[in-house]
Amino acid sequence: QDSQVSDTETITDGHRWPRQNSLSMREWDIPYDELQIGDEIGAGRFGKVYRGYWHGDVAIKVLNMEYVNDEKTLEHFKMEVSTFRKTRHENLVLFMGACMKPPRLAIVTSLSKGNTLYTLIHLRKDKFNMNKTTIVAQQIAQGMGYLHAKGILHKDLKTKNIFLENGKVVITDFGLFSVTKLCHGNRKGDSLGIPPGWLCYLAPELVRSLHAHQAHNEDLAFGKASDVYAFGTVWYELLCGEWPFKGQPPEAIIWQVGKGMKQPLANLQASRDVKDILMLCWSFHAKDRPDFIRLLNILDKLPKKRLARSPSHPIHLSRSAES
Ligand code: ATP
Repeated sequence: QDSQVSDTETITDGHRWPRQNSLSMREWDIPYDELQIGDEIGAGRFGKVYRGYWHGDVAIKVLNMEYVNDEKTLEHFKMEVSTFRKTRHENLVLFMGACMKPPRLAIVTSLSKGNTLYTLIHLRKDKFNMNKTTIVAQQIAQGMGYLHAKGILHKDLKTKNIFLENGKVVITDFGLFSVTKLCHGNRKGDSLGIPPGWLCYLAPELVRSLHAHQAHNEDLAFGKASDVYAFGTVWYELLCGEWPFKGQPPEAIIWQVGKGMKQPLANLQASRDVKDILMLCWSFHAKDRPDFIRLLNILDKLPKKRLARSPSHPIHLSRSAES
């Protein structure tokens, strides 16, 4: 039973929560025992992701609590969860609930049965034609535009966090970055603590603050524009089948991006409009990058074979790819 502190606050599990928050948080609380945890799908910075069952197939992200059991992390986790529950969009993974009783902290979402763009582009080496590339990018931009309209930053937009399921884009892991950052036990990567493949999504303002960030352990200066920069990198991967600055050591990438240098596009066989999207998203100054509404506008104007579609009906890529 919560003890009411004031008209606007309650205490749950020893925590003060804004009253409305506390009440609605409980709605999303899933008792850990109700979850049937199956095979491990994979491990990330956050902890491990399992296939599971809870009123149907689900993905269960279990936060690694081995090294973190302080109040701050729990607060962070609950904040992330409260962010998650605000999202309802067909291009965002469906949040179903969370286990919020330490040491069992987990996020339960719908299970994506498709592949990530990372798997399709970098492992399967699938080629995306221009129509398919544009349709995928439009769906990403729609999901991201929705997040931004809700005041939520993704902070970790990358092809590993974008699923393609029967032609429909599903974005995952939004807003979880501050939780993953706290999971020191899971830190993978090189001497700078940079996970492989992460750097090319980081906007210059983030890259430039990397060192200070390491020293002072402060949050990186994420913003809507840094999500747009990351979208630019995803656009590049869709077009080229590889990451920008491919094969270069982290130090070289940090130096170039920090100075405002971009991956050269001379070898990219694409129209000026298509390359312009890259240049806009990768603008050195955050203020020069377009927002997702503008990007959707630009993407919509790209010459392509038109398909009758409505935003509420997923577009099937197989159809568009063949048309
Ligand atoms: P990083 O932690 O560096 O972001 P990652 O994205 O691979 O790496 P996780 O997000 O923890 O790490 O994911 C681990 C694995 O679980 C990945 O293979 C990912 O594709 C898979 N996965 C994550 N969410 C889901 C989901 N909702 N449905 C199916 N598989 C998922």
